[in-house]
Amino acid sequence: MTVELISVGTEILMGNIVNTNAAYLSAGCAQLGLSMYNQQVVGDNPERLAKAIEEALSRADIIIISGGLGPTEDDLTKETAAGVLGMKLIEDEHTKKRIKEMLQNSIFKNDIPDNNWKQAMVPEGAVVIDNSNGTAPGLIMEKDGKSVILLPGPPNELEPMFDNDIRPYLAGKNPDAIFSKMVKICGVGESQVETKLLDLIDAQTNPTIATYAKTGEVQVRVTAKAASESAAKELVKPVVKEIKSRFKENVYSVDANETLEEVVVKMLAKKDLKLVTVESCTGGLLAGRIVNVSGASEVFSQGLVTYSNKSKRKVLNVDKAVLKKYGAVSKETAKEMAKGGILASDAEVGVSVTGVAGPYQSEDKPVGLVYIGCYYKDKVTVKEYMFRGNRQKIREQAVVKALDLVRRRILEDD
Ligand code: ATP
Ligand code: MG
Repeated sequence: MTVELISVGTEILMGNIVNTNAAYLSAGCAQLGLSMYNQQVVGDNPERLAKAIEEALSRADIIIISGGLGPTEDDLTKETAAGVLGMKLIEDEHTKKRIKEMLQNSIFKNDIPDNNWKQAMVPEGAVVIDNSNGTAPGLIMEKDGKSVILLPGPPNELEPMFDNDIRPYLAGKNPDAIFSKMVKICGVGESQVETKLLDLIDAQTNPTIATYAKTGEVQVRVTAKAASESAAKELVKPVVKEIKSRFKENVYSVDANETLEEVVVKMLAKKDLKLVTVESCTGGLLAGRIVNVSGASEVFSQGLVTYSNKSKRKVLNVDKAVLKKYGAVSKETAKEMAKGGILASDAEVGVSVTGVAGPYQSEDKPVGLVYIGCYYKDKVTVKEYMFRGNRQKIREQAVVKALDLVRRRILEDD
Protein backbone atom coordinates (compact mmCIF):
# COMPACT_ATOMS: atom_id res chain seq x y z
CA MET A 1 0.00 0.00 0.00
CA THR A 2 1.36 3.40 -0.90
CA VAL A 3 0.23 6.63 0.65
CA GLU A 4 0.86 10.28 -0.21
CA LEU A 5 0.31 13.50 1.67
CA ILE A 6 -0.93 16.82 0.45
CA SER A 7 -0.63 19.70 2.92
CA VAL A 8 -2.90 22.59 1.98
CA GLY A 9 -2.21 26.17 3.02
CA THR A 10 -0.48 29.24 1.65
CA GLU A 11 0.80 29.80 5.19
CA ILE A 12 2.95 26.67 4.87
CA LEU A 13 4.35 27.74 1.49
CA MET A 14 5.23 31.17 2.88
CA GLY A 15 7.00 29.71 5.88
CA ASN A 16 4.55 31.27 8.32
CA ILE A 17 3.82 27.94 9.94
CA VAL A 18 5.88 24.80 10.22
CA ASN A 19 4.33 21.74 8.59
CA THR A 20 4.04 19.66 11.74
CA ASN A 21 1.01 17.84 10.33
CA ALA A 22 3.18 16.31 7.62
CA ALA A 23 5.69 15.11 10.20
CA TYR A 24 2.94 13.66 12.37
CA LEU A 25 1.16 11.90 9.53
CA SER A 26 4.39 10.61 7.97
CA ALA A 27 5.51 9.06 11.24
CA GLY A 28 2.06 7.53 11.75
CA CYS A 29 1.99 6.04 8.25
CA ALA A 30 5.53 4.68 8.59
CA GLN A 31 4.53 3.04 11.83
CA LEU A 32 1.67 1.33 10.01
CA GLY A 33 4.05 -0.01 7.38
CA LEU A 34 2.65 2.12 4.58
CA SER A 35 5.10 3.18 1.91
CA MET A 36 5.31 6.90 1.26
CA TYR A 37 7.33 8.16 -1.72
CA ASN A 38 5.92 11.65 -2.29
CA GLN A 39 4.46 14.60 -0.41
CA GLN A 40 3.15 17.88 -1.73
CA VAL A 41 2.44 21.32 -0.27
CA VAL A 42 -0.14 23.40 -2.11
CA GLY A 43 -1.43 26.90 -1.41
CA ASP A 44 -5.11 27.72 -1.03
CA ASN A 45 -5.71 27.48 -4.74
CA PRO A 46 -8.32 25.07 -6.13
CA GLU A 47 -6.74 24.57 -9.59
CA ARG A 48 -3.33 23.69 -8.22
CA LEU A 49 -4.89 21.54 -5.50
CA ALA A 50 -6.96 19.62 -8.07
CA LYS A 51 -3.80 18.97 -10.06
CA ALA A 52 -1.95 17.81 -6.96
CA ILE A 53 -4.77 15.39 -6.09
CA GLU A 54 -4.85 13.99 -9.64
CA GLU A 55 -1.10 13.51 -9.60
CA ALA A 56 -1.15 11.79 -6.22
CA LEU A 57 -4.01 9.53 -7.34
CA SER A 58 -1.97 8.45 -10.35
CA ARG A 59 0.76 7.13 -8.04
CA ALA A 60 -0.63 6.12 -4.66
CA ASP A 61 -3.47 4.05 -3.18
CA ILE A 62 -4.23 6.42 -0.33
CA ILE A 63 -4.06 10.22 -0.32
CA ILE A 64 -4.23 12.13 2.94
CA ILE A 65 -4.97 15.83 2.60
CA SER A 66 -4.72 18.17 5.56
CA GLY A 67 -6.07 21.70 5.93
CA GLY A 68 -8.65 23.84 4.22
CA LEU A 69 -11.75 22.22 5.72
CA GLY A 70 -12.82 25.28 7.69
CA PRO A 71 -15.73 27.65 7.15
CA THR A 72 -13.94 30.48 5.36
CA GLU A 73 -13.77 31.38 1.67
CA ASP A 74 -10.23 30.13 1.24
CA ASP A 75 -11.06 26.69 2.66
CA LEU A 76 -11.65 24.74 -0.54
CA THR A 77 -10.18 21.29 0.02
CA LYS A 78 -13.46 19.40 0.30
CA GLU A 79 -15.03 21.05 -2.75
CA THR A 80 -11.90 20.45 -4.81
CA ALA A 81 -11.41 16.82 -3.77
CA ALA A 82 -15.07 16.02 -4.38
CA GLY A 83 -14.77 17.66 -7.79
CA VAL A 84 -11.78 15.52 -8.76
CA LEU A 85 -13.55 12.34 -7.67
CA GLY A 86 -16.79 13.39 -9.36
CA MET A 87 -18.82 13.41 -6.16
CA LYS A 88 -21.46 15.97 -5.37
CA LEU A 89 -21.83 17.61 -1.98
CA ILE A 90 -24.90 16.90 0.11
CA GLU A 91 -25.91 18.13 3.53
CA ASP A 92 -25.10 15.80 6.40
CA GLU A 93 -27.84 16.12 9.04
CA HIS A 94 -25.73 14.62 11.78
CA THR A 95 -22.85 17.03 11.20
CA LYS A 96 -25.22 19.99 11.02
CA LYS A 97 -26.62 19.04 14.41
CA ARG A 98 -23.17 18.55 15.86
CA ILE A 99 -21.97 21.96 14.62
CA LYS A 100 -25.09 23.60 16.02
CA GLU A 101 -24.57 22.03 19.43
CA MET A 102 -20.90 22.93 19.40
CA LEU A 103 -21.45 26.57 18.47
CA GLN A 104 -24.35 27.02 20.86
CA ASN A 105 -21.86 26.57 23.64
CA SER A 106 -19.50 29.10 22.08
CA ILE A 107 -19.39 32.88 21.80
CA PHE A 108 -21.66 32.68 18.74
CA LYS A 109 -24.58 31.24 20.74
CA ASN A 110 -27.70 31.89 18.69
CA ASP A 111 -26.00 34.03 16.12
CA ILE A 112 -24.10 31.32 14.27
CA PRO A 113 -22.34 32.75 11.19
CA ASP A 114 -23.87 31.33 8.00
CA ASN A 115 -20.59 30.14 6.56
CA ASN A 116 -20.42 27.46 9.27
CA TRP A 117 -23.12 25.41 7.56
CA LYS A 118 -20.72 24.91 4.69
CA GLN A 119 -18.93 22.46 6.95
CA ALA A 120 -22.02 20.24 7.11
CA MET A 121 -21.85 19.63 3.35
CA VAL A 122 -20.11 16.34 2.60
CA PRO A 123 -19.30 14.40 -0.57
CA GLU A 124 -22.06 11.88 -1.25
CA GLY A 125 -21.03 8.44 0.01
CA ALA A 126 -18.12 9.71 2.10
CA VAL A 127 -17.45 8.39 5.58
CA VAL A 128 -17.92 11.31 7.98
CA ILE A 129 -15.63 11.48 10.99
CA ASP A 130 -16.72 13.55 13.95
CA ASN A 131 -14.26 16.19 15.06
CA SER A 132 -14.18 16.27 18.86
CA ASN A 133 -12.10 19.45 18.93
CA GLY A 134 -13.60 21.52 16.15
CA THR A 135 -16.49 21.94 13.77
CA ALA A 136 -15.13 20.60 10.47
CA PRO A 137 -15.56 16.82 10.19
CA GLY A 138 -12.89 14.58 8.69
CA LEU A 139 -13.87 12.70 5.54
CA ILE A 140 -12.93 9.46 3.86
CA MET A 141 -13.81 9.13 0.18
CA GLU A 142 -13.33 5.87 -1.68
CA LYS A 143 -13.32 5.46 -5.42
CA ASP A 144 -11.91 2.84 -7.79
CA GLY A 145 -10.02 1.13 -4.98
CA LYS A 146 -8.36 4.36 -3.87
CA SER A 147 -8.99 6.39 -0.74
CA VAL A 148 -8.83 10.14 -0.29
CA ILE A 149 -8.80 11.21 3.34
CA LEU A 150 -9.44 14.81 4.36
CA LEU A 151 -8.34 16.06 7.76
CA PRO A 152 -8.70 19.49 9.39
CA GLY A 153 -5.55 21.64 9.53
CA PRO A 154 -5.29 22.54 13.23
CA PRO A 155 -2.96 19.96 14.82
CA ASN A 156 -5.12 19.66 17.95
CA GLU A 157 -7.95 18.47 15.68
CA LEU A 158 -5.91 16.46 13.18
CA GLU A 159 -3.79 14.46 15.60
CA PRO A 160 -6.55 12.87 17.70
CA MET A 161 -8.62 12.26 14.56
CA PHE A 162 -5.70 10.47 12.93
CA ASP A 163 -5.02 8.38 16.01
CA ASN A 164 -8.61 7.45 16.82
CA ASP A 165 -10.18 7.05 13.40
CA ILE A 166 -7.72 7.10 10.52
CA ARG A 167 -5.10 4.83 12.04
CA PRO A 168 -7.54 1.90 12.45
CA TYR A 169 -8.91 2.55 8.96
CA LEU A 170 -5.42 2.44 7.43
CA ALA A 171 -4.43 -0.60 9.50
CA GLY A 172 -7.43 -2.41 8.02
CA LYS A 173 -6.34 -1.47 4.50
CA ASN A 174 -2.77 -2.62 4.89
CA PRO A 175 -2.43 -6.39 5.06
CA ASP A 176 1.20 -6.19 6.18
CA ALA A 177 2.07 -5.93 9.82
CA ILE A 178 5.09 -3.91 10.71
CA PHE A 179 7.34 -4.04 13.71
CA SER A 180 10.38 -1.96 14.49
CA LYS A 181 12.92 -1.58 17.22
CA MET A 182 15.24 1.32 17.80
CA VAL A 183 18.73 0.53 19.00
CA LYS A 184 20.02 3.62 20.80
CA ILE A 185 23.76 4.04 20.90
CA CYS A 186 25.83 6.53 22.85
CA GLY A 187 29.57 7.02 22.60
CA VAL A 188 30.03 6.00 18.96
CA GLY A 189 29.75 8.46 16.06
CA GLU A 190 27.31 7.96 13.17
CA SER A 191 29.92 7.10 10.57
CA GLN A 192 31.53 4.60 12.92
CA VAL A 193 28.15 3.03 13.56
CA GLU A 194 27.53 2.80 9.84
CA THR A 195 30.94 1.31 9.15
CA LYS A 196 30.40 -1.32 11.81
CA LEU A 197 27.01 -2.19 10.32
CA LEU A 198 27.93 -1.89 6.66
CA ASP A 199 27.63 -5.60 5.91
CA LEU A 200 24.16 -5.70 7.49
CA ILE A 201 23.06 -2.48 5.77
CA ASP A 202 24.30 -3.67 2.38
CA ALA A 203 22.51 -6.98 2.69
CA GLN A 204 19.28 -5.57 4.11
CA THR A 205 15.93 -6.39 2.55
CA ASN A 206 13.57 -7.32 5.36
CA PRO A 207 14.17 -6.10 8.04
CA THR A 208 15.54 -2.79 6.86
CA ILE A 209 18.20 -0.96 8.85
CA ALA A 210 18.45 2.82 9.01
CA THR A 211 20.75 5.00 11.11
CA TYR A 212 19.86 8.42 12.46
CA ALA A 213 22.26 10.87 14.08
CA LYS A 214 20.79 12.63 17.11
CA THR A 215 22.48 15.08 19.45
CA GLY A 216 25.19 13.09 21.19
CA GLU A 217 23.86 9.73 20.10
CA VAL A 218 23.03 7.52 17.14
CA GLN A 219 19.84 5.55 16.67
CA VAL A 220 19.49 2.49 14.47
CA ARG A 221 15.99 1.55 13.43
CA VAL A 222 15.34 -2.07 12.46
CA THR A 223 11.99 -2.53 10.74
CA ALA A 224 10.38 -5.69 9.43
CA LYS A 225 7.22 -6.35 7.47
CA ALA A 226 5.39 -9.65 7.69
CA ALA A 227 1.94 -11.19 7.57
CA SER A 228 1.53 -10.81 11.33
CA GLU A 229 3.09 -8.69 14.02
CA SER A 230 4.61 -11.71 15.74
CA ALA A 231 6.22 -12.81 12.47
CA ALA A 232 7.64 -9.30 11.99
CA LYS A 233 8.96 -9.39 15.57
CA GLU A 234 10.75 -12.64 14.87
CA LEU A 235 12.49 -11.07 11.88
CA VAL A 236 13.65 -8.08 13.91
CA LYS A 237 14.90 -10.02 16.92
CA PRO A 238 18.13 -11.60 15.56
CA VAL A 239 19.17 -8.36 13.83
CA VAL A 240 18.77 -6.34 17.03
CA LYS A 241 20.70 -9.01 18.89
CA GLU A 242 23.51 -8.80 16.34
CA ILE A 243 23.66 -4.98 16.54
CA LYS A 244 23.71 -5.14 20.33
CA SER A 245 26.58 -7.60 20.26
CA ARG A 246 28.56 -5.25 18.01
CA PHE A 247 28.11 -2.17 20.21
CA LYS A 248 27.87 -3.81 23.62
CA GLU A 249 27.76 -1.32 26.51
CA ASN A 250 27.36 1.58 24.06
CA VAL A 251 23.76 0.49 23.57
CA TYR A 252 21.63 2.12 26.23
CA SER A 253 18.17 1.10 25.04
CA VAL A 254 16.26 -0.79 22.35
CA ASP A 255 12.99 0.96 23.07
CA ALA A 256 12.14 3.86 20.75
CA ASN A 257 10.31 5.67 23.54
CA GLU A 258 12.92 5.29 26.25
CA THR A 259 15.22 8.25 26.80
CA LEU A 260 18.77 8.24 28.13
CA GLU A 261 17.69 10.08 31.28
CA GLU A 262 15.00 7.47 31.91
CA VAL A 263 17.59 4.73 31.66
CA VAL A 264 19.87 6.58 34.08
CA VAL A 265 17.06 7.20 36.58
CA LYS A 266 16.07 3.52 36.42
CA MET A 267 19.64 2.38 37.00
CA LEU A 268 20.05 4.70 39.98
CA ALA A 269 16.74 3.58 41.44
CA LYS A 270 17.62 -0.06 41.04
CA LYS A 271 20.78 0.43 43.09
CA ASP A 272 19.06 2.78 45.50
CA LEU A 273 21.51 5.56 44.66
CA LYS A 274 21.05 9.31 44.78
CA LEU A 275 22.48 11.71 42.24
CA VAL A 276 23.78 15.25 42.53
CA THR A 277 24.41 17.31 39.40
CA VAL A 278 27.01 20.06 39.45
CA GLU A 279 26.88 22.26 36.40
CA SER A 280 28.73 25.19 35.03
CA CYS A 281 28.32 25.71 31.27
CA THR A 282 25.12 23.63 31.03
CA GLY A 283 23.50 25.89 33.63
CA GLY A 284 20.85 23.46 34.89
CA LEU A 285 20.12 21.77 31.57
CA LEU A 286 21.35 18.45 32.95
CA ALA A 287 19.21 18.72 36.09
CA GLY A 288 16.28 19.60 33.84
CA ARG A 289 16.72 16.45 31.79
CA ILE A 290 16.78 14.34 34.95
CA VAL A 291 13.67 16.01 36.32
CA ASN A 292 11.91 15.34 32.97
CA VAL A 293 11.61 11.77 34.16
CA SER A 294 8.62 11.11 36.36
CA GLY A 295 9.91 9.40 39.44
CA ALA A 296 13.15 11.39 39.39
CA SER A 297 12.53 12.38 43.02
CA GLU A 298 13.47 8.84 44.01
CA VAL A 299 17.03 9.34 42.83
CA PHE A 300 17.67 13.05 42.38
CA SER A 301 19.13 14.68 45.43
CA GLN A 302 20.16 18.09 44.24
CA GLY A 303 21.10 20.18 41.22
CA LEU A 304 23.78 22.80 41.68
CA VAL A 305 24.59 25.46 39.14
CA THR A 306 27.93 26.92 40.08
CA TYR A 307 28.70 29.32 37.30
CA SER A 308 31.30 31.67 38.74
CA ASN A 309 34.64 30.64 40.18
CA LYS A 310 33.59 32.16 43.48
CA SER A 311 30.53 29.93 43.62
CA LYS A 312 32.63 26.90 42.73
CA ARG A 313 34.82 27.74 45.70
CA LYS A 314 32.04 28.63 48.13
CA VAL A 315 29.47 25.95 47.32
CA LEU A 316 31.75 23.13 46.26
CA ASN A 317 34.91 23.94 48.06
CA VAL A 318 36.92 23.80 44.85
CA ASP A 319 40.51 24.63 45.74
CA LYS A 320 41.45 28.20 44.84
CA ALA A 321 44.89 27.01 43.80
CA VAL A 322 43.36 24.46 41.40
CA LEU A 323 41.20 27.12 39.78
CA LYS A 324 44.19 29.40 39.49
CA LYS A 325 46.59 26.81 38.14
CA TYR A 326 44.32 24.87 35.76
CA GLY A 327 41.35 27.16 35.24
CA ALA A 328 37.63 26.53 35.68
CA VAL A 329 37.51 24.54 32.44
CA SER A 330 39.89 21.76 33.31
CA LYS A 331 40.07 18.13 34.25
CA GLU A 332 41.13 19.06 37.77
CA THR A 333 38.21 21.43 38.35
CA ALA A 334 35.70 18.92 36.95
CA LYS A 335 37.06 16.42 39.43
CA GLU A 336 36.78 18.81 42.37
CA MET A 337 33.29 19.82 41.31
CA ALA A 338 32.02 16.23 41.28
CA LYS A 339 33.54 15.61 44.69
CA GLY A 340 32.25 18.92 46.03
CA GLY A 341 28.72 17.98 44.96
CA ILE A 342 28.94 14.81 46.99
CA LEU A 343 30.08 16.74 50.06
CA ALA A 344 27.31 19.31 49.64
CA SER A 345 24.54 16.68 49.38
CA ASP A 346 23.38 13.26 50.51
CA ALA A 347 24.09 11.75 47.06
CA GLU A 348 26.36 8.81 46.29
CA VAL A 349 26.84 9.71 42.64
CA GLY A 350 28.06 13.15 41.58
CA VAL A 351 28.27 14.36 38.00
CA SER A 352 29.91 17.62 36.98
CA VAL A 353 30.11 19.64 33.77
CA THR A 354 32.46 22.51 33.03
CA GLY A 355 33.29 23.84 29.60
CA VAL A 356 33.34 26.64 27.06
CA ALA A 357 29.93 26.87 25.40
CA GLY A 358 30.96 29.88 23.30
CA PRO A 359 30.71 31.81 21.15
CA TYR A 360 33.64 33.44 22.95
CA GLN A 361 36.68 31.66 24.30
CA SER A 362 37.39 31.77 27.99
CA GLU A 363 40.62 31.24 29.88
CA ASP A 364 42.22 30.94 26.42
CA LYS A 365 40.48 27.62 26.00
CA PRO A 366 38.72 26.77 22.75
CA VAL A 367 34.95 26.91 22.28
CA GLY A 368 33.50 23.42 22.63
CA LEU A 369 36.03 22.14 25.16
CA VAL A 370 34.07 20.44 27.93
CA TYR A 371 35.09 18.32 30.90
CA ILE A 372 32.65 15.93 32.48
CA GLY A 373 33.34 14.34 35.81
CA CYS A 374 31.63 11.54 37.67
CA TYR A 375 32.25 10.62 41.27
CA TYR A 376 31.08 7.21 42.41
CA LYS A 377 32.50 4.80 44.97
CA ASP A 378 35.54 6.88 45.90
CA LYS A 379 36.64 7.21 42.30
CA VAL A 380 36.32 10.22 40.00
CA THR A 381 36.36 9.70 36.26
CA VAL A 382 36.83 12.75 34.04
CA LYS A 383 36.27 12.82 30.28
CA GLU A 384 37.43 15.52 27.93
CA TYR A 385 35.36 16.47 24.87
CA MET A 386 35.67 18.89 21.97
CA PHE A 387 32.13 19.54 20.79
CA ARG A 388 31.20 21.40 17.63
CA GLY A 389 28.20 23.60 17.02
CA ASN A 390 26.63 26.69 18.52
CA ARG A 391 26.26 27.44 22.22
CA GLN A 392 23.01 25.49 22.56
CA LYS A 393 24.32 22.45 20.65
CA ILE A 394 27.50 22.30 22.71
CA ARG A 395 25.49 22.43 25.93
CA GLU A 396 23.06 19.75 24.73
CA GLN A 397 25.90 17.43 23.74
CA ALA A 398 27.54 17.95 27.12
CA VAL A 399 24.30 16.94 28.86
CA VAL A 400 24.05 13.71 26.84
CA LYS A 401 27.67 12.80 27.61
CA ALA A 402 27.16 13.58 31.30
CA LEU A 403 24.12 11.29 31.47
CA ASP A 404 26.06 8.64 29.60
CA LEU A 405 29.03 8.86 31.94
CA VAL A 406 26.77 8.25 34.93
CA ARG A 407 25.26 5.28 33.09
CA ARG A 408 28.68 3.81 32.33
CA ARG A 409 30.00 4.22 35.85
CA ILE A 410 27.03 2.37 37.31
CA LEU A 411 27.28 -0.27 34.58
CA GLU A 412 30.97 -0.84 35.38
CA ASP A 413 29.92 -1.61 38.90
CA ASP A 414 27.74 -4.53 37.79
P1 ATP B 1 -9.92 26.08 10.24
O1 ATP B 1 -11.29 25.64 10.56
O2 ATP B 1 -9.14 26.47 11.46
O3 ATP B 1 -9.83 27.08 9.12
P2 ATP B 1 -8.82 24.21 8.31
O4 ATP B 1 -9.05 22.74 8.24
O5 ATP B 1 -9.45 25.03 7.27
O6 ATP B 1 -9.18 24.72 9.75
P3 ATP B 1 -6.44 25.59 7.68
O7 ATP B 1 -7.29 26.79 7.49
O8 ATP B 1 -5.69 25.09 6.52
O9 ATP B 1 -7.28 24.40 8.27
O10 ATP B 1 -5.41 25.82 8.86
C1 ATP B 1 -5.87 26.29 10.12
C2 ATP B 1 -4.72 26.39 11.07
O11 ATP B 1 -4.22 25.08 11.37
C3 ATP B 1 -3.50 27.11 10.53
O12 ATP B 1 -3.57 28.48 10.74
C4 ATP B 1 -2.38 26.51 11.33
O13 ATP B 1 -2.30 27.09 12.58
C5 ATP B 1 -2.83 25.08 11.48
N1 ATP B 1 -2.28 24.24 10.39
C6 ATP B 1 -2.79 24.05 9.17
N2 ATP B 1 -2.04 23.23 8.44
C7 ATP B 1 -1.00 22.89 9.21
C8 ATP B 1 0.14 22.04 9.02
N3 ATP B 1 0.32 21.39 7.89
N4 ATP B 1 1.00 21.91 10.05
C9 ATP B 1 0.79 22.56 11.21
N5 ATP B 1 -0.25 23.36 11.45
C10 ATP B 1 -1.15 23.53 10.47
MG1 MG C 1 -9.17 27.30 7.31
